[in-house]
Amino acid sequence: MRKIKMVFVRPPFEGMETYKPPHLGIAMLFSYINKVFGNSVKCFLLDALPDELSTDEISKRICEIRPDALAITVKTMQVVQSLDIIQKIKKNISPIIICGGNHVSVDPELFIKCGADFSVIGEGEEALEIILKKVFFECKNLEYPPNIVMNSKYDQAERENIKKCIYLSDDVDKYGIPNWEIFDLTRYNENIHINKASHALPIIASRGCLYKCDFCSTHLTWGTTVRYRSPHLVFNEIKKEIEKYNISDYHFYDDNLLFSDTWMDEFLWLIEKERLKFNWICLSRPEIICKNRHLLERMKKCGCKGFELGFETQNEDLYNNMNKKNKKTAFIEAYNLLSEKEFEMIEFLIMCFYDGETMKTLFETYESLKKYKKKKSLFIYSRYFATPFLGTKFNENLCEKGVILSNNLEYKHAIFLNFIPYSFLNSSLENFRVNGKTLAIQLLFSQIDYVIHKNEVATLLDKINTEKFAKIFNEVAENRGIIQDLCDRILCINNYTCCLESIYEYVGRMIEFAVAKGAIKYKNENPIL
Ligand code: SF4
Repeated sequence: MRKIKMVFVRPPFEGMETYKPPHLGIAMLFSYINKVFGNSVKCFLLDALPDELSTDEISKRICEIRPDALAITVKTMQVVQSLDIIQKIKKNISPIIICGGNHVSVDPELFIKCGADFSVIGEGEEALEIILKKVFFECKNLEYPPNIVMNSKYDQAERENIKKCIYLSDDVDKYGIPNWEIFDLTRYNENIHINKASHALPIIASRGCLYKCDFCSTHLTWGTTVRYRSPHLVFNEIKKEIEKYNISDYHFYDDNLLFSDTWMDEFLWLIEKERLKFNWICLSRPEIICKNRHLLERMKKCGCKGFELGFETQNEDLYNNMNKKNKKTAFIEAYNLLSEKEFEMIEFLIMCFYDGETMKTLFETYESLKKYKKKKSLFIYSRYFATPFLGTKFNENLCEKGVILSNNLEYKHAIFLNFIPYSFLNSSLENFRVNGKTLAIQLLFSQIDYVIHKNEVATLLDKINTEKFAKIFNEVAENRGIIQDLCDRILCINNYTCCLESIYEYVGRMIEFAVAKGAIKYKNENPIL
């Protein structure tokens, strides 16, 4: 039988320096391809994360391996880098190039236009199998599924009329369990928050989410039906990996692990029966936690250390704008339940600068986080910036909602302030005051990281010291001005030498930083919370 070489590639992106999880999707694809083709497909991995490889270095290594097939996984912030890799290697070698991942699922044609042979919409196991079989192993009678978009040289005439769409199998068990053999797991740092020195493995029990929140793109890749793997398969995966890698912690990547109480019941039963010891955390929605409260005690006994919840914002109207289809009050109930059961960790994920955000809503969110934190020592939050991803409701008519701070896809990543809503720019600063000294001290200990307009923001930070920023902010606030007035003042001080986008980024980041660090106070008889 013919033997081929295939390379899996995770391209680099800005922000990969600290959190380095091994790629669960690649481990699943490798496992499946290994199961189907055995030694006929020799797989390699070029992962930018552990060595912080550049596109040049990745391209060079691909050319050295000279693979027959290249499978690139692409999130939005990796599009530019992926296309760069494709262009570079095509100057020297010509493997078939297959792209998949979140961004490919929403814009598959882009990759074909830029030199890829195949783009896969949605999950990739079967698509990859069929592509390899047809291109390399002469299985001519196989049909390409509708989730494959391809270069016209492969396209059969009859496929032209087939609508390209997501293809999802109901039977996710057939994809097996991930195979981590092509990863050097010692070089990654997935964790479950409670002890970052102890490395965890990622795991997923289900694919898909039915809620379609307006900012979320998950359904475009994984669909809107929640498809679980069997509890036995998930349990056996954990058991096997604990033995093989001496792993004690698991981070469930499911959008909502607790969605099915019967699944969880069976999974817990297996852990109880075999008395398997491991620590794990998962993500869930507050109303689902409340609905399945009868399982919490057992989950805890079976090693569950805590939950991550998409809190987003404290403000109810803003939250409702996101169309999350649940009530803000459910968070307090879920939080109290989890605290009562003494789960070690509760993490809220918060999203700043969504359409509808104002100075008050931002302040309100951080004030509420302080209250949650006071009640529980291992309460943490992770802040993300609202990012309009292609294919989401949030991304529709975006120019009417606010200002896009960069069109470069590398910055469509929630660690960057890449969009600022008009609701925020037009919001009043009345009654808010910045304490310049507190802000200066906080900036000594932590910095404003992951900036898009690096040079301009660095110049502004240099030119306008914290005392000066506080003075301008407070003057605008005293005059009942809005954030746009503050931006105009800063633009004027800077002699109109930098673009408005960089001013917005600077002001947005400074205000968010100051609010988060307690350097902004609200003076009013009626407190915000
Ligand atoms: S934000 Fe969470 S609940 Fe909402 S659609 Fe995305 S994964 Fe589902």
